[in-house]
Order: sequence, then structure tokens, then C-alpha cells
Amino acid sequence: MDLDCSMHSHAEHGNESFSYDTIIIGAGIAGCCAAFALQQKGQKILLVDRSGVPASGGSGAAGAFVSPKIGKGSPLQTLTNEAYEYAKDFYLKHFPKYFHQTGVIRIPKDAEDAEKFHLYEEFNNSQYRWVSKEELETLGIKNSENSFFFEGAGVCDAPVMCRAIWEQVPFEQFEVDKLKYDGTQWHLLNAQCSMLNAKHIVLSTGYQNALFDMRYMGVKGTWGSRGDYSSALDLKVSMHKSISVSANINGIIKIGATHVKSKEPCMVCDGEPLKALLETASQMVDTSDLVLKETFCGMRSGSKDYFPLVGKVMDVPFMLEEYPTITRGAKPPLKHIDNLFICNGLGGRGFVFAPLMAEWLAECIVEGKEMDVRVSPDRLFLKWCRKSTDLKH
Ligand SMILES: Cc1cc2nc3c(=O)[nH]c(=O)nc-3n(C[C@H](O)[C@H](O)[C@H](O)COP(=O)(O)OP(=O)(O)OC[C@H]3O[C@@H](n4cnc5c(N)ncnc54)[C@H](O)[C@@H]3O)c2cc1C
Repeated sequence: MDLDCSMHSHAEHGNESFSYDTIIIGAGIAGCCAAFALQQKGQKILLVDRSGVPASGGSGAAGAFVSPKIGKGSPLQTLTNEAYEYAKDFYLKHFPKYFHQTGVIRIPKDAEDAEKFHLYEEFNNSQYRWVSKEELETLGIKNSENSFFFEGAGVCDAPVMCRAIWEQVPFEQFEVDKLKYDGTQWHLLNAQCSMLNAKHIVLSTGYQNALFDMRYMGVKGTWGSRGDYSSALDLKVSMHKSISVSANINGIIKIGATHVKSKEPCMVCDGEPLKALLETASQMVDTSDLVLKETFCGMRSGSKDYFPLVGKVMDVPFMLEEYPTITRGAKPPLKHIDNLFICNGLGGRGFVFAPLMAEWLAECIVEGKEMDVRVSPDRLFLKWCRKSTDLKH
């Protein structure tokens, strides 16, 4: 819809008295953490979402495991584990009630995968210990191989954690249809032409990005599902194999997966929702008394290269018009859109990445610090210009 709203609001056009220093759009875990970090740095902020409650998007569906990534020391593993250490401390310091430090066991998928764990070992920078098959049996975990036990890891109560952060910051229900910049401040308009103003904008809109040309970031959604089951099973630790199974926390065991291949993952299947997930879980723990209480389904948004997207947003129309040779490999200086930022692409690890990404974003906005190149969306721009079929037409 093309809105034609005349721009008037309580903040005067062109003067330096902004209604807000920053408005953050989207109250998932990314937006909640960004709002919290900016407020902690003294900014006058407003968090908005089209929904009246936080975590109505992918964040509400998350199993919200906060655990390290294992592997052979890839750059993504290094960054993930830096974020993991930060997230753990962040939740324990600010929101300990909603972070359950159950420990998370990483179980090899099969005997072949178990062999790889020996190669992964030297890249486990977070505190861990080996657990044998026998010890896993005593913990109620069957069909396993020797595994890694990250005792400091845990599970957030996803919507409750988002709500706890959301309660610390000013919030308004507002669906942003259009953003306009007048050279001094941003105007956020909804379908009714109501307007909010701020100096900076942070886009934390998850997999939906209709507000700007952000094709170069390649944000796309992947379905995930989760079921919460009531159970009396004495399961004290959380675990991840091909799917995640939480410890029994207050009578609830969460079972979730972030890569659901089904075309309609949110549909009830023959009256047995999440049947496949439960079947997989039953190979891991005793599921005989599990009763499905609630199902969740959501999109998590990932970037082209699986790294988060945090920092300034490119002025794509300007770059293409000013430097047409960019599509043939030219490397001109980059121009960003004034005071527009993004915090997105957190993939299957939003609860791990969000606190550190929010802190880096706040340092960038408030202190003018350069964004870490690993997460700055700039990394994807020139390649997109050269390779994208969108631009060939
Ligand atoms: C089943 C499942 C299991 C998962 N398990 C884990 C896990 O164990 N550990 C982990 O760390 N991560 C997990 N994740 C991933 C995690 O959920 C995501 O990375 C995270 O939710 C991304 O949060 P977000 O804030 O970027 O997006 P979202 O939570 O989708 O939030 C985006 C928000 O923007 C709002 N919005 C969009 N457009 C507008 C607009 N124009 N105006 C106003 N508001 C707007 C939406 O309403 C929404 O609330 C899981 C995800 C799923 C689906």
C-alpha cells in the first residue's frame, strides 16, 4: 500500500528535539534485547510491534536453548560461542528467573557422528565434560554415544523471557507500514497515518522485511515447531541430538526442531500434531507419560551465510545509480542510509545471539563504534551486486 500521509507529529520537523533517540521495530528476542541495551546506555527508546505482546513471531515458538555450537572451529562456531558466553552471563545477571541452567548434553546422531566428536573436542572453548553412555543411561537418556555435557548451558522460557525484557522498556503496539526520513529524523507511519518519530531506527522484524530493499542480505524464513508436554519424568538435563529435548521444568518437557521440512508445518497432522518429533524424542528418552499441552510454530530468519545481520543498512538505490559498474566488480565507497540499523538473521540461535548482538549494536549507535565485520550486513553487498540475478534484469 502506498501511503500518502501528511507528516505531522508532536516532534517538530528539523529541530533537534527528537521524540525518541531510537525506535526499535519488532518485539522478538532481537528487538527486546536491542531496546534493553540501548536503554541501558541512556537512550530514550521505544519498542514497537504490530502485536500487543512480545514474542508473537519466531521468538514465541523457540525452544530457546542457550548452548554452544560444536564443530571444527569454523568462524561461525567461534562467533556463536562468544555470543553463548555473553548470553549466559546476561540472562543470569538480569533475568535469572527465566533462564534454567539445566546443562545441555550434545549427543552424536550416530556412531559415525560420534567419531567426529573427538575432532571437535579441541574446539570446545566453553566449559564441558565427556559423559559416557552409561552415565547417560542413569540420567534417563537412551540409545546414545559418548557425548559432551555443557553444564553451564540451559534453556530460556522463550515468551516469558521476552516479556521480562519487554517489561523493562517503553512499548507501543504499532504496525509500521512505511518509514520516511526527512533529513533529520525518521517518521514511522501505520495504515491509519498515525506517526512516531525518532532519530534512529532499528529493524528487528524477523523474516519480514517489506520496509526497505534488503535483498542483498538474503533474509529468509525457515519453519520450526515445538511441543510442550506435561510429564512426571525425572529428566534433569536438557539435550540436543537431531532435535532438542528440554529437562523437565515445572512438569513440562519441551521438544523442538528448527528445520521442519514439511510444507505445512503448523497444520495438525491426522489429529496427531508433532507426531514425528515425538517419535524421534522417544528414541532419546522415555516419552510414555508425555501429554501434549501446547504446540508452537514459527519462522526463524536466517541470512545467506548464517551469520547475524547487525549494523547499518546500505543505501541500495543510491549505490546502484551512482556506481553502475558495481555489478561488474567495482568497489566504490559504501553509503548507508542515515541512522537506519538492523538486528536480524539470528537463525536457529536467536536466544544465544541476541544479547551480544544488541550490545554491539548499542555501542555502534550510541558510541559510534565500528560494527564487527563478521556481522555487518556490508559483507554481503558487493557480492550480491556482482552475482544477483535480480540486478541482471
Ligand atoms: C521451533 C523453533 C525453535 C527454536 N529453538 C531455538 C533455540 O533452541 N535456541 C535459540 O537460540 N533459538 C531458537 N530458535 C530461533 C529463534 O527463535 C530465532 O532466532 C528468534 O526468535 C529470532 O528473533 P527475532 O526477534 O529476530 O524475530 P521474531 O521473533 O520473528 O520477531 C519479529 C517481530 O517483528 C514484528 N514485526 C515484523 N514486521 C513488523 C512491522 N512492520 N511493524 C511492527 N512489527 C513488526 C513481528 O510481529 C515480530 O514480533 C528457534 C526457532 C523456532 C521457530
